[in-house]
Amino acid sequence: MAYDFSPRWMNPELEAFQTSVEKFLDQEMLPQDEAARAQGHVGHDLWRRAGELGMLCTDIPAEFGGGDGDFRHEAVIYEAMACRGLTGLNNSVHSIVAHYLLNHGTQEQKEFYLPQLCAGQMVGAIAMTEPGGGSDLQSIKTRAIKKDNSYVLNGSKTFISNGFLSELMLVVAKTDPTQRARGVSIFLVDTRELKGFSVGKLLKKVGMKAQDTAELFFDDVVLPENALLGGAEGQGFYQLMGDLPYERLIIADNAMGAMIGAYHETVNYVQGREAFGKKVVEFQNTKFKLAEIAATIRVARAFMDRCIEDYLSGKLDTETASMAKLWMTEQQCNVIDECVQLHGGYGYMEEYLIGRMYADARVQRIYGGTNEIMKEVISRKL
Ligand SMILES: Cc1cc2nc3c(=O)[nH]c(=O)nc-3n(C[C@H](O)[C@H](O)[C@H](O)COP(=O)(O)OP(=O)(O)OC[C@H]3O[C@@H](n4cnc5c(N)ncnc54)[C@H](O)[C@@H]3O)c2cc1C
Repeated sequence: MAYDFSPRWMNPELEAFQTSVEKFLDQEMLPQDEAARAQGHVGHDLWRRAGELGMLCTDIPAEFGGGDGDFRHEAVIYEAMACRGLTGLNNSVHSIVAHYLLNHGTQEQKEFYLPQLCAGQMVGAIAMTEPGGGSDLQSIKTRAIKKDNSYVLNGSKTFISNGFLSELMLVVAKTDPTQRARGVSIFLVDTRELKGFSVGKLLKKVGMKAQDTAELFFDDVVLPENALLGGAEGQGFYQLMGDLPYERLIIADNAMGAMIGAYHETVNYVQGREAFGKKVVEFQNTKFKLAEIAATIRVARAFMDRCIEDYLSGKLDTETASMAKLWMTEQQCNVIDECVQLHGGYGYMEEYLIGRMYADARVQRIYGGTNEIMKEVISRKL
């Protein structure tokens, strides 16, 4: 017997979708995960397959090739993957890219790129962070200079998720270096056979080893004028700000799935492991720790469901989404740390799911805006 942490928005249609997602993950993704962790990426075939099965861009309208669902469909996928410690297919970033296009792209940009993202024919990435800094986005150094009917892009980016496999990159660059926020623009960069563009080494991370994270270099890359997202210069920072609730909700929901997965994994483990002639689950400490974890996940579920419902009704504000990112990722790290402890030495081994979850969890407090930046955002309204 273990607790069930199903969301309250679950319904028969979403349950059927969850079954097909789990089938794809268990039968097609899990068997490849070890190889993906060894090479540092999942390869293009898995992306194409996910697209073929309707597992990408589930909340993008059908007219652009998407699943015509909503954030609950996305959440089903995020939670199922996080629950299994599957990090290779970074569809969070992929969906974020699709939403930038949907919310800010011109009709021509949407019609051209969205169907390719939905089908997995293009893998999406968003390149904001530079070697010189990630939190202070307004001071980025990458430049896009207008020259006749094109832009010339120069600069470098680092820590870019999906950077190695990506064919469609949203690159954040300065079009006016004399301005801070107003000088920032976003470019749609089709990286296929692009002169002057190169991907540096795949970065060796502490966790999320199946997920590709790369450095990118732009050396006099010539982009057509219509590569500017939305067609107007200086809108980049506002476009970024507008999509923050969606991005933070995704990170929070990944934390939700990871906590549920860690809980079940640990309950199973302590029921089988023996010490001092009894099962580890029989120690009062084990029961109390698991009781605390179950209570934390229940509270997290209630908050998460509320945030998802607010998002669906257009009411999720940036501050609440930042609270979700902050609190959920802190809980994720705490819960998984306790789960590692209950596994003893095996919890620290990479071949154990809980050990990998421990390493994977840490970055959740860093990317998508660090948790210190979340506190900055939240404290603006105090
Ligand atoms: C695995 C991984 C994947 C990533 N994926 C992407 C991606 O796809 N695209 C992308 O663009 N970036 C990505 N990033 C980068 C990530 O978003 C940045 O690392 C993050 O925003 C922090 O920037 P930084 O590393 O430059 O740290 P810094 O900005 O240098 O911060 C260092 C420390 O100072 C603190 N700090 C900074 N400013 C303040 C402040 N005002 N108040 C209080 N404390 C502050 C920070 O919280 C942090 O603790 C990824 C990073 C990792 C590790």
